[in-house]
Amino acid sequence: MGRKLGWHCDDCEIGEVFHLGYAANALNPPAFIEEAVRGDHGTLLKVLMGENSPVKVDVRMRGAHFMCPYCQRIYSGRVAYVQDDSGAIFRHTIAPERCPHCNTVVDNEASGVRVRSKGIQRYVDKIWTDGCPRCGGEVERIDMDWS
Ligand SMILES: [Zn+2]
Ligand SMILES: [Zn+2]
Repeated sequence: MGRKLGWHCDDCEIGEVFHLGYAANALNPPAFIEEAVRGDHGTLLKVLMGENSPVKVDVRMRGAHFMCPYCQRIYSGRVAYVQDDSGAIFRHTIAPERCPHCNTVVDNEASGVRVRSKGIQRYVDKIWTDGCPRCGGEVERIDMDWS
């Protein structure tokens, strides 16, 4: 369940759609576990998710959005919350190493970069009002609920 929010410019054929609530709380998603065991997400997760793990952990995966501190545009990623049986949690961010809009290297773990639904609403609202970031023309508004 969630909401799709975005915009599209028919003239430039560009646009963005953000899925709010996407993959909320997926528990131990097999694709992520596979990547983690392979070592794609660093040594700590490789050890924790591996066969001889010292502790049993669960992973809850959520969709997340990040705002590039350089160009102020938003891109999508995911956040994995890793929890052991004592309840301790740490967060592992999965997002592009470079902003897909301006190609600058971004530190996704840095605080303040993550944007919540309200931030996305404001971002999309601004483009709805100001028009297409490339040509300034009127954009098609995308705002729908999905399940
Ligand atoms: Zn950027
Ligand atoms: Zn345009």
